[in-house]
Amino acid sequence: MQRISIVIPIFNEAGLIKLLIPALEERLVACLDGYELEILLVDDGSSDGSFDLLVEATAGMPHYCIIRLSRNFGHQIAITAGMAEATGDAVVVMDADLQDPPEVVLEFVKKWQEGYHVVYGVRESREGESAFKLLTAKLFYRALRSLTNVDIPADVGDFRLIDRKICDVYNEMREKDPYVRGLISWAGFNQVGVRYARDARAAGTTKYPIRKMVKFAIDGITSFSTIPLRLCTVAGSVLSVFSFLGILYFLYLKLIARDIIDGLAATAIIVLFMGGIQLLGLGIIGEYLARIFHESKGRPVYIVQDRVQARETA
Ligand code: UDP
Ligand code: MG
Repeated sequence: MQRISIVIPIFNEAGLIKLLIPALEERLVACLDGYELEILLVDDGSSDGSFDLLVEATAGMPHYCIIRLSRNFGHQIAITAGMAEATGDAVVVMDADLQDPPEVVLEFVKKWQEGYHVVYGVRESREGESAFKLLTAKLFYRALRSLTNVDIPADVGDFRLIDRKICDVYNEMREKDPYVRGLISWAGFNQVGVRYARDARAAGTTKYPIRKMVKFAIDGITSFSTIPLRLCTVAGSVLSVFSFLGILYFLYLKLIARDIIDGLAATAIIVLFMGGIQLLGLGIIGEYLARIFHESKGRPVYIVQDRVQARETA
């Protein structure tokens, strides 16, 4: 019998757990006949007691396994940890907040049986998201596509099914700032999208504050593109040409026209502008440098504190 692993990252979702487990049982486990199921709940260092609630809610159900990371490592790393622990012939990644409807997994499995190696969900509509999130997400996915030469589909999250072959490829990558969906697109093989309507969160609030969204966006871009660095070179070259023309112009005013230059405003504008551009360039280089630094340290990507197989607690 083929085995399917479901990986669900969980961070401070205490209010969700009593909804999540019954929803998975009714809308997924009961409908996936003919497959052996393993559900890996990755507790990403929750501090609100989610771990204990998970252990309690899954008692006596041996198809659940709870993996507790030693602290909060972030959504992408929680997924990475789950994928490394998964033993299925296919691995499904979905969020804990039921924004990704469990029924869609059945469609993923159908496509997988047709021979696709990756089946990802394409968000046709998104319920209950703020206008700001919708706009920034839209702009980001478009920007990422134009900045990279990897074909990362737009409006696609991490909700997907991944064949064992690709899961093995992914597990070998061990990147420190992983951009999961991009790395999986990068792997190639046969990939296909399934359109679905993304529901609103079943309970709780988003665990992606602006700070995490910005890191996520920069990880996405720096993982797959060096175009921002190229843009620094282009901006530097263009500004150098203008600077040279400016120098000639000011020399002309000073030596030939003998004009009096109104110094302060012009100097202030030039200094502030150049200072801003230089810091921006340094910041962009710094982002790449920081990632090289992370990669070079040889620390593990995450640390597993506990593994609880429901069977043991029943
Ligand atoms: N999550 C996580 N670690 C984090 C942040 C989020 O494991 O540091 C989990 C969270 O519990 C949820 C999933 O990742 O299951 C997606 O997060 P969320 O729903 O908050 O993101 P959004 O849907 O708002 O983009
Ligand atoms: Mg969500």
